[in-house]
Amino acid sequence: MNFLEERIVKDGIVKPGNVLKVDSFLNHQMDVALLDEIGREFKRRFADKKITKVLTIEASGIAIAYPVAREFGVPLVFAKKSKSINIEGEMYVAEVESFTHKNKNKVIVSKRFLGPDDHLLIIDDFLANGCALQGLITIAESAGATVEGLGIAIEKGFQIGGRVIRNFGYRLESLAIVDAMDVETGEITFRAQD
Ligand code: 5GP
Repeated sequence: MNFLEERIVKDGIVKPGNVLKVDSFLNHQMDVALLDEIGREFKRRFADKKITKVLTIEASGIAIAYPVAREFGVPLVFAKKSKSINIEGEMYVAEVESFTHKNKNKVIVSKRFLGPDDHLLIIDDFLANGCALQGLITIAESAGATVEGLGIAIEKGFQIGGRVIRNFGYRLESLAIVDAMDVETGEITFRAQD
């Protein structure tokens, strides 16, 4: 098991509805040393890529993306959730359905911060059905930017998102891939990775 898998086994809680709660170390209370280690691990995995910006989505993606951007020495841009309708023109826009809240949000990024010269590493905390990542890919495509890769802290391998994104041909690296989790026993099974 790698460092993140070990932490998930120690402190993650399996909830009904295929939700893995990691709010004691990742997305409510945050273990900043663990986040730094996540940043170093993504730098190692994408060391062959020339990244100009890291792109994520608010809110919980930001904490993961920050140490990654620092490792690469590049700016971090995060897509904002917006209810405003008067945003076309200055903003790239995508629609994202939230797995945890079951509602749809427009997410926006200012055209000032992404463009055709950008080579992006897209980062998020979780991958479930892939809506968040597809929204970020849509924004990157609207900007004419190149998606060099996608990095996820925890992928739920029993949901379709990972397969969809990999089938598009993107390089997707997930630090922990949960293949099964049992709400009765709390047992979590990880996919073996190199
Ligand atoms: P997707 O768009 O891939 O269906 O879901 C990804 C988003 O939903 C992530 O940005 C994350 O915030 C949230 N999410 C999905 N599954 C889980 C989960 O099991 N636990 C937590 N804490 N968040 C999740």
